[in-house]
Amino acid sequence: MMNIKANLEQLKERIPEHVELVAVSKTKPAHMVRELFEAGHLDFGENKVQELVEKQQELPGEIRWHMIGHLQSNKVKYIAPFVHLVHGVDSLKLLRVLDKEGRKNERQINCLLQMHIAKETAKFGLSEEELETILASEEFRKMEFVKVRGLMGMATFTDNSEVVREEFRNLKRIFEKLKSVHFRSQPGFSVLSMGMSDDYQLAIEEGSNMIRVGSLVFGPRETT
Ligand SMILES: *Cc1c(COP(=O)(O)O)cnc(C)c1O
Repeated sequence: MMNIKANLEQLKERIPEHVELVAVSKTKPAHMVRELFEAGHLDFGENKVQELVEKQQELPGEIRWHMIGHLQSNKVKYIAPFVHLVHGVDSLKLLRVLDKEGRKNERQINCLLQMHIAKETAKFGLSEEELETILASEEFRKMEFVKVRGLMGMATFTDNSEVVREEFRNLKRIFEKLKSVHFRSQPGFSVLSMGMSDDYQLAIEEGSNMIRVGSLVFGPRETT
């Protein structure tokens, strides 16, 4: 039998203290999340709204839920009351809806802008140009109920670690640029979410301070 608590402990020993670990529980049953929560872990990630909402309802309210998958605007309302951090924001339209739902729920919704750093065209995310356009827009600057806390990215799915490293390095460069220019007066812009089970070590070497790890903790998934 797999010991997910031991997996988590081992992983935590291998990552520096300044790196936050989001345990990605997608497709895994709620009792596994509860087991890690009872062992003291608070941050969990899901990529589907329905599954996220179901687990949130079933599990303790102290859990910090991260929405790591692509989020459709029409589903924001289901997670707006409780979500801790939305990782995959890649349009002004989605920011607009998050702002609106944040206002309705009288809370600020924290999010990360997802950058397109991989070679594959299929992956979601913004280009640097699209990012600049959003940040420069009057509409974005007026938003009060959505807070951009940093950036997120996914590297190309490849065994070539040099390709992956280069992509992470590029994301870190963009992150640093934003930190020193657009978000200079906002210390809350501080999260760089990059790295998964297969590439978290590379990601940390290249400056990640938040990793999203699923299979290494919970074991392989049957679907996805
Ligand atoms: C599934 C998923 C992860 C975790 O993947 P593992 O390879 O199992 O660690 C991380 N980030 C996102 C966006 C995911 O969808």
